[in-house]
Amino acid sequence: MMLTKESNGYDEARLGFQRLDPHRPDLIFAVTSAPEVEEAVKYAADHGKRVAVQASGHGLTRGNNGGVLIATGDFNGVRVDVEQKTAWIEAGATWRQVIDATAPYGLAPLSGSFPGVGAISYTLGGGTGLMARRYGFAADHVRRIEVVTADGVRRNAGDDPELFWALRGGGGNFGVVTGIEIELFEVPTLYGGSLYFDLAENPAVLEIWREWTRTVPDEVTSAIALIPFPDIPPVPAPLRGKHIAQIQLAILGDNGPDLIKPLKGAPVLDTVGVLPYAESARIFAEPEHPGSYRSRNVLLSDLDPDPLATLPKHASGPTRCVIGIRHLGGALSRPPSIPNAIGHRDATYSLTVLSPGEADVSDLHRTILEPWASTTIGRSLNFSFGPLTTDEVRAAFDPGDYDRLIKLKNRYDPARLLAPNHPLEQP
Ligand SMILES: Cc1cc2nc3c(=O)[nH]c(=O)nc-3n(C[C@H](O)[C@H](O)[C@H](O)COP(=O)(O)OP(=O)(O)OC[C@H]3O[C@@H](n4cnc5c(N)ncnc54)[C@H](O)[C@@H]3O)c2cc1C
Repeated sequence: MMLTKESNGYDEARLGFQRLDPHRPDLIFAVTSAPEVEEAVKYAADHGKRVAVQASGHGLTRGNNGGVLIATGDFNGVRVDVEQKTAWIEAGATWRQVIDATAPYGLAPLSGSFPGVGAISYTLGGGTGLMARRYGFAADHVRRIEVVTADGVRRNAGDDPELFWALRGGGGNFGVVTGIEIELFEVPTLYGGSLYFDLAENPAVLEIWREWTRTVPDEVTSAIALIPFPDIPPVPAPLRGKHIAQIQLAILGDNGPDLIKPLKGAPVLDTVGVLPYAESARIFAEPEHPGSYRSRNVLLSDLDPDPLATLPKHASGPTRCVIGIRHLGGALSRPPSIPNAIGHRDATYSLTVLSPGEADVSDLHRTILEPWASTTIGRSLNFSFGPLTTDEVRAAFDPGDYDRLIKLKNRYDPARLLAPNHPLEQP
């Protein structure tokens, strides 16, 4: 279906989860199949129009004004091969749709904290999931990718090993992916949930978590978020009006209760227990309503206790800041069987500062991240919401890989027709 600015349904089709700077295309192709994606890209190429793609709109950084938007939300099939333990995922499927298809077989994908995000974009950006320390990045477990390149040709990316390398970590810079085949894992349940601590009464919680992460096996993937909760009814009563440290836990195997004993203390809310993988959204319990948000991310070689101790003070200012730290390492640090473009596998923690709302918080975010400069080794594009400079995008990749990606970009998209959320070079 094609929609112009005058069509009914134009706004519905262009507006995704992130509302900061929505796309305002001349033409929307709301696609339901790979041939329709080909048609849309060919149209854009023939008319010299830039092409943006949107699945659920969680990762939008800068709206495309004019040009073509390929809206993939209704192109969302998921085919599970139970014997091979794989799934074929179409362009617009969210992790929710993938999990719903795999859970009846006790199988799980390498999805992340919020199942509402698009599975394809998450994976093209690397994909740091709930079981990341045990199994690695989602992109490490992709077997096949079908992509329409900027010339409108549909290709099996594996026919060009360089393209297959680049797509897994290099994001939406090389074409419109129509589907991917991913590996699934036998994980019917997890031991997981969150421990919520009142920071005012438990100022040592960050340091306790930091020390604990140094002792845990790869079966434990965890994170901590500092969240100033507003004092309003939709917020659970024990959290209202408090500055909370939320320890988010996803543990494989039977040893969960023993493993988390050092963390227990006196949380104001404890949601940890055995839960079906299909309910894994309860671990982070992130908000489900569309809105505006900006963030900056850094990948760290280590978690320095000194700047860590100063983080809580940043939530007391006039702008709300959610500061999230994810524990990396484990399988994330090991090279995958088929190399890909993911950078900085040696990072041991990821630190993101996020502010909801429209305000320009770039100075505040830079101030919060500045004390981490000596241990910063790069950034994750998946956790960067908002436009980045070319140098900032380059910092997501290992030395040499950025130039390799640009070379491939020159081959597959010489006219820079594609408008991805994190372009390798700023337009
Ligand atoms: C609440 C929340 C939780 C998150 N949790 C995690 C997490 O646990 N781990 C993690 O790694 N990331 C996480 N992310 C980041 C998320 O993976 C990225 O923002 C991702 O880009 C979202 O994809 P989308 O399809 O939902 O967004 P969209 O805005 O629809 O897509 C983002 C960009 O991806 C590109 N793209 C989309 N579809 C295609 C396609 N078919 N072919 C080529 N390019 C395409 C386009 O450039 C597009 O601008 C989270 C984000 C949010 C908002």
